This record gives sequence, C-alpha cells and structure tokens, in this order.
Amino acid sequence: MTDRILDFLRRTRPEGPCLVVDLDVVRDNYLAFERAMPDSRIFYAVKANPAPEILHLLAGLGSNFDCASVQEVDMALVAGASPDRISFGNTIKKERDIAAAFARGVRLFAVDCEAEVDKVARQAPGARVFCRILCEGEGAEWALSRKFGCDPAMAVDVLDHAHRAGLVAYGVSFHVGSQQKNPHAWDAALASAAEIFRILSDRGIELKMVNLGGGFATRYLEAIPGEGEYGQAINDAIRSHFGNRLPETIIEPGRGMVGNAGVIKSEVILISQKAEGDIRWVYLDIGKFNGLAETMDEAIRYPILSHRDGEATPCVLAGPTCDSVDVMYEKKPYPLPVNLEIGDELLIAGTGAYTTTYSSIAFNGFPPLQSYVI
Ligand SMILES: *Cc1c(COP(=O)(O)O)cnc(C)c1O
Repeated sequence: MTDRILDFLRRTRPEGPCLVVDLDVVRDNYLAFERAMPDSRIFYAVKANPAPEILHLLAGLGSNFDCASVQEVDMALVAGASPDRISFGNTIKKERDIAAAFARGVRLFAVDCEAEVDKVARQAPGARVFCRILCEGEGAEWALSRKFGCDPAMAVDVLDHAHRAGLVAYGVSFHVGSQQKNPHAWDAALASAAEIFRILSDRGIELKMVNLGGGFATRYLEAIPGEGEYGQAINDAIRSHFGNRLPETIIEPGRGMVGNAGVIKSEVILISQKAEGDIRWVYLDIGKFNGLAETMDEAIRYPILSHRDGEATPCVLAGPTCDSVDVMYEKKPYPLPVNLEIGDELLIAGTGAYTTTYSSIAFNGFPPLQSYVI
C-alpha cells in the first residue's frame, strides 16, 4: 500500500473493482533481488503480471524473462528484451510453439522428459536445455509439485538424451513452490542438482547452470523473510553442495517481484446473514472469477483494509458471480469491522501478482479486472 496508489485512487476514483500497481515498488524489488543475489541472473516470471509497463520497466533495468508461451515471448520482445534474455520455461510446449520461439531467436528451453527433448531437438537444433526436477513444495502456500519435473535420477537420462540429440545439456531447474516462506527449502533440490552435475560430468557432459526458480514470498498477513535472507540461505546451500565448482545460477521471481506492488480496490455489495445470529456474509464486487483465484482452497490470505475502525468479527467473504464456489474465506472466516456497511470501499493489498491474468473475460457479464500501472 503506497501513498502513490492511495493518491491515484483518490484522484481518479475509478469505477468498479481494479488493480493499481506502483512501478516504484517493482523497481525496488528488482534492485533488492539484484543486491541479495548478485551472482544470479534474474528472469522475471512473466505470468505473475505481464502488464506492458512492468515488462518495459524490468527490461530497462536489465531483467531477463521466463516465458511460458509464444505470446509471453512476444510480450517480452515488445518490452525490449532481446531473445538471448528469454527462457521458454514451460516444460509442456507444442512443437510448433518451440519452432516459433526458435524463429524469434530463443535458445533456452525447459524440458522434463525425453519426448519433450525430442521436440526441442527437432525444432530448435543446438539450443540449450535445462531439465526440471520434481520438488515437494513443502512449506509453500501455493505448491507447484507433481505436474512439472521428473525424478532427479531420470533427469540424468533426459539430459544425456539431449546431449546425444545435438542439444546443449545446460543445467537443472526446480521450483520450491510459490510463496515459499522457508529460505532453506532450496537446500534439498540443490543437493539433487549437484548430484546430477557429478554423474553427468563422469559421462563427459559438463552442465553449467542451476535455475533456482521462483518461490520468493510477498508480504500478506504474516511476516516473510527478506530477499537478503533468501540470498544468504541459497548461497550457503550452493556452496555446501557444489564446493568451489560453482554453477551459473538464475532466479525466476514472479510473486516476489510484483505481489506487494499492487492493491485492488473493491466495494462491498451486500452484507447479510443466513439465519438470525449467524456469521455475516460479506459480498464484494471481486471474487475468484475476476482476480482473486488464488483464494482457491483459501491458499492465499490477502490483507483487506477498510477505513472503518470498529471491532472486527469473522465474516465469510464471497464474490459477485452466480457460482456458488465463488466464496473466498469460509473455512477460516476473515475478520472485518462490525460497522462495515454496504457500499464501503475495501482495499486488498499484496495483489500485484496472479490477479489480472486469472480474471475471466465475461462470466455473468462482469468485465475482466481493470488494471492501472502507475
Ligand atoms: C510460476 C513460475 C515462477 C514464478 O514463481 P513465483 O513463486 O511467483 O516466484 C518461476 N518459474 C517457473 C518455471 C514458474 O512456473
């Protein structure tokens, strides 16, 4: 929540729910990552918030970009990144999309199985590939396990296969889970990565790079480690597992780069009870389908601010759509002031990441979440 954002909302009084992102905060975050991990290249995970102003700012600061689709590759190029600053980090790609990225000059691709290696070898001959390994995601609030990555033992074969297919077996990647509040969560995956480096080195294949992924937390309700604490813990883990043969490293912050830069302005549409004396239900003009998808399973709990200062009591929070799953906090109700009223404005902080892109086009006729980047 910055004065610039509050000022913007006061001056422009935008109608309807909207996200306001303060670019100064994004810049501060980028510089903090650079300071905390000076030996790592930063690849911003575009999916977190692909607003052109954000990509343009980061491109100007020297950031690289982790892209999951040809469309994201194009957004990074338009923002001013040259293709050598782009990684096609999705392990699940159509073969023609690999070809399209290669034609645009992209030479760095993620894989997690031999079939994907074969696609890259056919469409991006000579490119660098890194193999993603499975990671438990323990301690993360939004785990990214299971769907991506292979067992470390299999990664050895995948990279060996890539080498034999004429690709550059370049390194290993993993993601410790998003909103990972434990800076030591990187340790076990780094141990696996070092082991993969050793086995392949014995086979004459010298890997170069470890992609440390994202996972850096943004501040919601609870305290989180600073960039410096992550940097310290990760550097210690790299040194303990790789000794003095340090690999190149890259990081792919998404949430940690933009989460705290955004605030959503929302309005209370209705406050009601299901029975006399029951818990209050507070219905907002924003819910799971127009920006707050990460409240799914009540995973992410955003700070919600009101100008009312009455005593707070737990409420069920729900969105405006006609889908009964559009309920945000029911298992663990959310405390809101007792004197909250219909028509009140609420500010939802920490919403710079994973909101606009998760917003549906016109469910119930509601427009996608409006975004202002200032
Ligand atoms: C989503 C994603 C990221 C960003 O993760 P955060 O937890 O938001 O930092 C980084 N790398 C890959 C491959 C991803 O899929």
